[in-house]
Amino acid sequence: MNRGRLTVVGLGPGTPGWLTIEARETLARATDLVGYGPYLDLVQPVDQPRARHEFDNREEAQRARFALDLAREGRDVAVVSSGDPGVFAMATAVIEELERGDGAYDDVDVAIVPGVTAASAAAARVGAPLGHDFCCVSLSDVLKPWPVVEQRLEAVGAADFVVALYNPISRHRPWQLGRAFEILRCHRSPDVPVVFARAVTRADERVVVTTLGACDTVDADMSTVITVGSSTTRAFTDSAGRTWVYTPRRYPSAD
Ligand code: SAH
Repeated sequence: MNRGRLTVVGLGPGTPGWLTIEARETLARATDLVGYGPYLDLVQPVDQPRARHEFDNREEAQRARFALDLAREGRDVAVVSSGDPGVFAMATAVIEELERGDGAYDDVDVAIVPGVTAASAAAARVGAPLGHDFCCVSLSDVLKPWPVVEQRLEAVGAADFVVALYNPISRHRPWQLGRAFEILRCHRSPDVPVVFARAVTRADERVVVTTLGACDTVDADMSTVITVGSSTTRAFTDSAGRTWVYTPRRYPSAD
């Protein structure tokens, strides 16, 4: 029997143009695609017919086990994630099940193919807000307790990191984003630039540059990544009317 393969593939933010060549080759070669339905829809159709296994976005462990079991039968399985599969996504669930399997999946060749994560995609749209030290925080408290999120945001604020907020708001988590802004406002001035980048590279993309003082949670949904600048992040509008945001690499005290 063939050795099975399981590859966790990052699709990037949406457009096929931002999919790596290796990701494209892996998807074209796979016998089976496993993933959340809307992400599978992002995969370009190829000539070769493949089995498509749709899962609800919440069933990560089950999805990972299913994919590993399929690969153990000798199939060539691609598990798809939006953005980078290692950032708040499926690679973790697969590696976790690999450890839990304790040798059960020794016959499977496991690999991860990275992708452009939402924070990088959003940054590219406005300039270079991630040009200096930054971090990413998921505001979802589905898998981690909210006090941990608050504690991290306090630390992020105190350490003056630029922060990209993933999973900012949903129907079931309506107030957390407002609380996150409140915490960051205690540490930063109201004129710090904030970027709301929604559905980057997709048909319904919308990018708004505002400030920490003026930003409003209504500009965000689950397809939005929000980048809050540090004390050194700057914004300006060029003569063509385009607003740029960047964080200089040189720190003021390093002059
Ligand atoms: N693995 C993904 C992140 C999954 S968490 C990555 O690396 O990008 C899901 C969150 O990612 C969303 O709530 C949103 O905050 C962000 N996101 C994913 N795709 C996006 C896109 N095209 N534009 C803006 N934000 C996006």
